[in-house]
Amino acid sequence: MLKQIIRNLLSGKKTISISQEDIASARAALAGLEELKTEIDSIYSRSIRIRQVDAGSCNACEWECTALTNPVYDVQRFGIDFVASPRHADMLLVTGPVSRQMELALRKTYDATPDPKFVVACGDCAVNGGIYNSSYAVAGGVSKILPVDLVIPGCPPSPQQIITALLAFLKQQHR
Ligand code: SF4
Repeated sequence: MLKQIIRNLLSGKKTISISQEDIASARAALAGLEELKTEIDSIYSRSIRIRQVDAGSCNACEWECTALTNPVYDVQRFGIDFVASPRHADMLLVTGPVSRQMELALRKTYDATPDPKFVVACGDCAVNGGIYNSSYAVAGGVSKILPVDLVIPGCPPSPQQIITALLAFLKQQHR
Protein backbone atom coordinates (compact mmCIF):
# COMPACT_ATOMS: atom_id res chain seq x y z
CA MET A 1 0.00 0.00 0.00
CA LEU A 2 2.78 2.41 1.00
CA LYS A 3 4.69 1.54 -2.17
CA GLN A 4 1.61 2.28 -4.24
CA ILE A 5 1.14 5.67 -2.56
CA ILE A 6 4.79 6.58 -3.18
CA ARG A 7 4.52 5.43 -6.82
CA ASN A 8 1.43 7.60 -7.26
CA LEU A 9 3.13 10.62 -5.67
CA LEU A 10 6.18 10.23 -7.90
CA SER A 11 4.19 9.71 -11.07
CA GLY A 12 3.09 13.35 -11.11
CA LYS A 13 -0.19 15.20 -10.81
CA LYS A 14 -3.22 13.57 -12.40
CA THR A 15 -6.48 15.26 -13.26
CA ILE A 16 -9.69 13.75 -14.52
CA SER A 17 -11.27 15.46 -17.49
CA ILE A 18 -15.05 15.68 -17.76
CA SER A 19 -16.49 15.08 -21.20
CA GLN A 20 -19.14 17.27 -22.82
CA GLU A 21 -21.48 14.25 -22.68
CA ASP A 22 -21.07 14.08 -18.87
CA ILE A 23 -21.87 17.78 -18.52
CA ALA A 24 -24.92 17.48 -20.81
CA SER A 25 -26.17 14.46 -18.87
CA ALA A 26 -25.81 16.29 -15.50
CA ARG A 27 -27.69 19.30 -16.88
CA ALA A 28 -30.50 17.06 -18.14
CA ALA A 29 -30.78 15.45 -14.69
CA LEU A 30 -31.02 18.85 -13.01
CA ALA A 31 -33.68 20.00 -15.44
CA GLY A 32 -35.76 17.00 -14.35
CA LEU A 33 -35.31 17.98 -10.71
CA GLU A 34 -36.66 21.47 -11.34
CA GLU A 35 -39.93 19.91 -12.49
CA LEU A 36 -40.05 17.87 -9.28
CA LYS A 37 -39.65 21.04 -7.21
CA THR A 38 -42.89 22.49 -8.47
CA GLU A 39 -44.76 19.30 -7.70
CA ILE A 40 -43.36 18.90 -4.19
CA ASP A 41 -44.05 22.56 -3.36
CA SER A 42 -47.62 22.36 -4.57
CA ILE A 43 -48.39 19.17 -2.65
CA TYR A 44 -46.57 19.52 0.64
CA SER A 45 -45.73 23.22 0.99
CA ARG A 46 -42.15 22.48 2.03
CA SER A 47 -43.16 20.33 4.97
CA ILE A 48 -41.22 17.11 4.45
CA ARG A 49 -38.56 16.60 7.09
CA ILE A 50 -36.42 13.47 7.07
CA ARG A 51 -34.40 11.80 9.78
CA GLN A 52 -31.76 9.59 8.16
CA VAL A 53 -30.78 6.47 10.09
CA ASP A 54 -27.71 4.41 9.24
CA ALA A 55 -28.65 0.97 10.52
CA GLY A 56 -25.33 -0.62 9.53
CA SER A 57 -24.44 0.35 5.98
CA CYS A 58 -21.07 0.45 4.19
CA ASN A 59 -21.53 4.26 4.04
CA ALA A 60 -21.95 4.52 0.27
CA CYS A 61 -25.70 5.01 0.66
CA GLU A 62 -24.95 7.82 3.13
CA TRP A 63 -22.68 9.48 0.57
CA GLU A 64 -25.58 9.55 -1.87
CA CYS A 65 -27.93 10.90 0.79
CA THR A 66 -25.35 13.54 1.72
CA ALA A 67 -25.13 14.52 -1.95
CA LEU A 68 -28.83 15.42 -1.80
CA THR A 69 -27.88 18.55 0.13
CA ASN A 70 -24.85 19.56 -1.94
CA PRO A 71 -24.96 22.54 -4.34
CA VAL A 72 -25.73 20.26 -7.31
CA TYR A 73 -28.89 18.60 -5.98
CA ASP A 74 -29.64 21.14 -3.19
CA VAL A 75 -32.67 19.21 -1.98
CA GLN A 76 -33.73 21.98 0.42
CA ARG A 77 -34.92 24.06 -2.51
CA PHE A 78 -37.36 21.25 -3.34
CA GLY A 79 -39.00 21.48 0.08
CA ILE A 80 -37.25 18.39 1.46
CA ASP A 81 -34.76 18.66 4.30
CA PHE A 82 -33.01 16.53 6.89
CA VAL A 83 -33.38 17.02 10.62
CA ALA A 84 -31.21 15.91 13.52
CA SER A 85 -33.97 14.57 15.74
CA PRO A 86 -36.67 11.99 14.98
CA ARG A 87 -39.04 14.17 17.06
CA HIS A 88 -38.92 16.77 14.27
CA ALA A 89 -39.27 14.28 11.41
CA ASP A 90 -42.12 13.22 9.12
CA MET A 91 -40.11 10.39 7.64
CA LEU A 92 -37.34 7.97 8.60
CA LEU A 93 -34.99 7.17 5.74
CA VAL A 94 -33.08 4.05 6.73
CA THR A 95 -29.90 2.89 4.99
CA GLY A 96 -27.94 -0.32 5.37
CA PRO A 97 -29.00 -3.73 6.62
CA VAL A 98 -30.26 -3.60 10.18
CA SER A 99 -27.31 -4.77 12.22
CA ARG A 100 -28.17 -6.46 15.50
CA GLN A 101 -26.31 -3.65 17.27
CA MET A 102 -28.62 -1.05 15.69
CA GLU A 103 -31.92 -2.94 15.98
CA LEU A 104 -32.94 -1.47 19.34
CA ALA A 105 -31.79 2.04 18.36
CA LEU A 106 -33.87 1.82 15.18
CA ARG A 107 -36.97 0.77 17.12
CA LYS A 108 -36.45 3.62 19.60
CA THR A 109 -35.97 6.12 16.77
CA TYR A 110 -39.23 4.93 15.21
CA ASP A 111 -41.07 5.25 18.51
CA ALA A 112 -39.69 8.79 18.96
CA THR A 113 -41.00 9.92 15.56
CA PRO A 114 -44.46 11.50 15.81
CA ASP A 115 -47.41 10.08 13.86
CA PRO A 116 -48.21 10.17 11.02
CA LYS A 117 -44.83 8.99 9.81
CA PHE A 118 -43.31 7.19 6.89
CA VAL A 119 -40.44 4.72 6.77
CA VAL A 120 -38.23 4.47 3.68
CA ALA A 121 -35.79 1.60 3.10
CA CYS A 122 -33.08 3.21 0.97
CA GLY A 123 -30.61 0.94 -0.85
CA ASP A 124 -30.52 -2.80 -1.45
CA CYS A 125 -29.26 -3.56 2.05
CA ALA A 126 -32.16 -1.69 3.65
CA VAL A 127 -34.61 -3.37 1.27
CA ASN A 128 -33.63 -6.96 2.02
CA GLY A 129 -30.25 -7.10 3.78
CA GLY A 130 -28.38 -6.99 0.46
CA ILE A 131 -24.92 -8.50 0.41
CA TYR A 132 -24.89 -8.67 4.22
CA ASN A 133 -28.10 -10.64 4.54
CA SER A 134 -26.50 -13.92 5.56
CA SER A 135 -24.27 -12.34 8.19
CA TYR A 136 -24.72 -13.43 11.80
CA ALA A 137 -24.49 -9.74 12.75
CA VAL A 138 -27.47 -8.66 10.62
CA ALA A 139 -31.15 -8.92 11.53
CA GLY A 140 -32.18 -8.36 7.87
CA GLY A 141 -33.84 -5.64 5.85
CA VAL A 142 -35.70 -2.80 7.54
CA SER A 143 -39.07 -4.50 7.02
CA LYS A 144 -37.99 -7.21 9.47
CA ILE A 145 -38.00 -4.55 12.18
CA LEU A 146 -40.40 -1.76 11.11
CA PRO A 147 -43.37 -1.29 8.77
CA VAL A 148 -41.82 0.03 5.53
CA ASP A 149 -43.80 2.41 3.31
CA LEU A 150 -41.33 2.84 0.45
CA VAL A 151 -38.35 0.89 -0.87
CA ILE A 152 -35.65 2.49 -3.01
CA PRO A 153 -33.43 -0.21 -4.55
CA GLY A 154 -29.88 0.36 -5.75
CA CYS A 155 -26.39 -0.22 -4.46
CA PRO A 156 -26.30 2.63 -3.81
CA PRO A 157 -29.26 4.49 -5.37
CA SER A 158 -28.24 7.80 -6.96
CA PRO A 159 -29.46 11.13 -5.50
CA GLN A 160 -31.79 11.56 -8.45
CA GLN A 161 -33.23 8.07 -7.97
CA ILE A 162 -33.86 8.87 -4.31
CA ILE A 163 -35.59 12.19 -5.09
CA THR A 164 -37.66 10.66 -7.88
CA ALA A 165 -38.81 7.78 -5.65
CA LEU A 166 -39.68 10.16 -2.81
CA LEU A 167 -41.74 12.36 -5.11
CA ALA A 168 -43.65 9.43 -6.61
CA PHE A 169 -44.40 8.16 -3.11
CA LEU A 170 -45.48 11.55 -1.78
CA LYS A 171 -47.75 12.12 -4.77
CA GLN A 172 -49.34 8.71 -4.17
CA GLN A 173 -49.96 9.53 -0.49
CA HIS A 174 -51.57 12.82 -1.48
CA ARG A 175 -54.20 11.13 -3.65
S1 SF4 B 1 -26.94 -0.97 -0.62
FE1 SF4 B 1 -24.84 -1.06 -1.39
S2 SF4 B 1 -24.06 1.00 -1.05
FE2 SF4 B 1 -25.89 0.79 0.26
S3 SF4 B 1 -25.14 0.07 2.26
FE3 SF4 B 1 -25.62 -1.74 1.03
S4 SF4 B 1 -23.68 -2.33 0.06
FE4 SF4 B 1 -23.47 -0.21 0.76
